Amino acid sequence: MRDPGFEAAVGAAMEGGREGGVPIGAALVRGGEVIGVGHNERVQAGDPTAHGEISALRDAGRQRTYRDTVLYTTLAPCAMCAGTVIQFKIPKVVVGEDRTFPGELDLLRSRGVEVVVLDDERCIGAMADFQRAHPDLWAEDIAQD
Ligand SMILES: [Zn+2]
Repeated sequence: MRDPGFEAAVGAAMEGGREGGVPIGAALVRGGEVIGVGHNERVQAGDPTAHGEISALRDAGRQRTYRDTVLYTTLAPCAMCAGTVIQFKIPKVVVGEDRTFPGELDLLRSRGVEVVVLDDERCIGAMADFQRAHPDLWAEDIAQD
């Protein structure tokens, strides 16, 4: 059975890719219900901090607590997004893949965050295609110059 939170994140990633953006999506889930979903909008919005995880948290709006939430993301979170998870005390992150970008999974684990990596073929394929087609955009996203 497919996980609705993860499917929401994958759907958002594909939508972002169709818009010409970086195909990374995320969803915030509470009790099995998706309360926020978003994708990377750096290209679309001209906003360097609009990563998928940040977009999903913005979509969810203000929350009294994050301790009962799970953040799904199609790609291993960067330092900024891992810091946001730590800041808001999100206890669990489900990651689509960490092959095309290792992210900061060890940082999350070192702060007590449960990390699950699904190694999802759709996520790996979308990122590999994007990195091949748009190496400059990808370098910009992970601040490699
Ligand atoms: Zn990020």
